[in-house]
Amino acid sequence: MDQPQKPLMKAQIAPLRALQDLDKQIFRWNKDRMQKPRALEPLDREVNATKGEHDGKLKAAKDAKLEVEKKELDLKERDERRKRLEGQRDTSKSNKEYQSYNLEIAAIRTEAGKIEEEILKLMASVEDATKLAGDAKTAMDAALGKHGEAKKGVDAEIAKIDEEIRGLRERRAAAAKEVDGEFLKIYERIHKAKPDAVALAAVVQEDDGYHCGGCRMGITFQDVNTVRKGKDPVQCRSCSRLLYLEAKPQAAPAK
Ligand SMILES: [Zn+2]
Repeated sequence: MDQPQKPLMKAQIAPLRALQDLDKQIFRWNKDRMQKPRALEPLDREVNATKGEHDGKLKAAKDAKLEVEKKELDLKERDERRKRLEGQRDTSKSNKEYQSYNLEIAAIRTEAGKIEEEILKLMASVEDATKLAGDAKTAMDAALGKHGEAKKGVDAEIAKIDEEIRGLRERRAAAAKEVDGEFLKIYERIHKAKPDAVALAAVVQEDDGYHCGGCRMGITFQDVNTVRKGKDPVQCRSCSRLLYLEAKPQAAPAK
């Protein structure tokens, strides 16, 4: 007589719905949590854009400096050649030879003068490019600063959500203990498989019959009757969710 009775579905509905309610809340918080970093996306783009701009300007400044260095080497080479020629000229054995050295030296001086002018121009462009790179760095630093601030805000929001989720998980663990083991197994299996984490579905009565509140598909009268009896678990034949009947406010207590 006192054999342990198999738990009835109808006795499990309330604890299962309590569990489902917590799971829905956890699901919503998790979704919210995943959305949070999206607030940073425009700032990410701004950081990337300003960083790209800065890299470009920095490279331009470096290239301009390299160009100056190259010209300076050219100039040095001319100076050395000129000095060498001047030395040779001073040991010339004839006036003709002397004049020919002078011509060559004059040509080198002209070349060197042109290079010096070029260097001056290039140095001005190095200055400009360096200034532009500096401006780009200021813009990049500002974007990084803005991003850092926004990220702090997002991180704080996420930490708050994590706190909520932690609390809910604790409550969920307690709520799960209120559900019979076999029913819990069915519930967990569906809960894990559903992208919306919803494992329970109310049977919805409409003009054209009964529907699953989860997937809107029709439910047979036979299944509805089994749900109504409240003995065995019934799963929707389309979405597999565990079906239950909403308690009617004025209905007599089910026997
Ligand atoms: Zn369904």
